[in-house]
Amino acid sequence: MPMETLSRADIESFSRSLDRARRVTVVSHTHPDGDAAGSTAALFSYISERRGKDVKVILPDYPSDTLLFLCDNVIFASDHAKEAEAWIEGSDLIILIDANELRRTEQLESLIRASSAQRILIDHHVGPERESFSLVFSETEVSSACELLFWILMEMPDIKADAAALPHRVARALLSGMTTDTNNFANSVFPTTLEMASRLLEAGVDRDDILDHLYNRYRENRIRSMGYMQSECMRITPKGAAYMIVTKEIQERFDIREGETEGLVNVPLAIGKVRISILLKEDEGHFRVSIRSKRGTSARELAKSRFHGGGHEMASGGKLYFPEDIPSPTDAAAYIENVTDDFLK
Ligand code: 5GP
Ligand code: MN
Repeated sequence: MPMETLSRADIESFSRSLDRARRVTVVSHTHPDGDAAGSTAALFSYISERRGKDVKVILPDYPSDTLLFLCDNVIFASDHAKEAEAWIEGSDLIILIDANELRRTEQLESLIRASSAQRILIDHHVGPERESFSLVFSETEVSSACELLFWILMEMPDIKADAAALPHRVARALLSGMTTDTNNFANSVFPTTLEMASRLLEAGVDRDDILDHLYNRYRENRIRSMGYMQSECMRITPKGAAYMIVTKEIQERFDIREGETEGLVNVPLAIGKVRISILLKEDEGHFRVSIRSKRGTSARELAKSRFHGGGHEMASGGKLYFPEDIPSPTDAAAYIENVTDDFLK
C-alpha cells in the first residue's frame, strides 16, 4: 500500500461509521476550490451509490462556474441557509474534507459544533484541529484531499484496492480535484500522486474531458482582465515580492466573478527575481489574500503572521481586514510593502 500511514484501525472505524450512519453531511471550506468541490463530490457519490445512505454536500458558498460540473448535489448555504441548517441538524455523521479547522466552514461552524453527530476529518493541511473530531485522517505528504480520499477508498471493503471498482463519478471527481490542487501536475506531486493518476486512467477516467471542463471554459472576460492585471496592477518590490491588488473598482469594471482570479497569483512566480507572490482581492470589510512562494520562502509563515491565515508551505491564504489591520483599502499597498520588506531577509 503506498500510504503506509493509513492505519487499519482508522480505516475500519471509518467504514463502520458509514455503515451506522443514517444521514450524512459532507462539508468543505468557504470559496471552494477544485479540491474541495472534487473531494466532496467523490464522497457524495461513494456514500450514496455504494453505501446507500442519505447524504448531502453542504458548501458555505459557490465555487467558480468552471467547477459547477462537480456540484450537482450541493446545498450552497450562502443562498439556502435554512435547508443547510435543517440537513446538518438531522445528520448523525458529519465529514469535513479539505480543511484543517471547522472555522474554515465560516457560517456553518456553529451549526456543526452544536450538532451531536459524529465528526470525521479528512485533510492534507498542516495543523488539523484534532480535538473537534472523533476520527482524523491527516496526511500532508499528498497532493490533495482528493488523493488522500482515493487512498482511503482503496482500502474500503467493497473497493479492495481496485480503482475500476470506484463508481465512475467518484473516479472523475477525484482526478479533477487532484488536477486543480497540483495546478495540473506542476506542484505538490508525490510518487503516490502519479500512481493515483495512473490507476484512475487505467480505470477509464476521461482526463481530456476533465481538462476541458477545468481549463477551456472560462469567459473571455477572465482572460482579458488577467492580462490587464498583469500589465497594469503587478508591482515587484526590490526584495522580490510581487503583489497585485484587485480592488472593488477593478472587479466591477471587468465584471470579475467568483473564482475568476483563480490562478492569477501563480503568474508572477515565473519571473526570476520574484520570491513570493501576493494577490489581494477586495471583499466586504477585508481583502482575501492568496500567497504563493518559491522554495526557501514560506508563504505559510507570511499568511500566518500577517494575514490571519495559513495553508501549505508554498501556497497559503488569509485575510487583511479594514479598519482593523489597515485604516482603509487604499492602505493595502503600503501594508504589503512594509510586511514583505520585514519578512524577506
Ligand atoms: P488560495 O490562495 O487558493 O485561496 O488558497 C491557497 C491555500 O491557502 C488553500 O489551499 C488553503 O490551504 C489556504 N488558505 C486560503 N485562505 C485561507 C484562510 O483564510 N485561512 C487559512 N487557515 N488558510 C487559508
Ligand atoms: Mn486541497
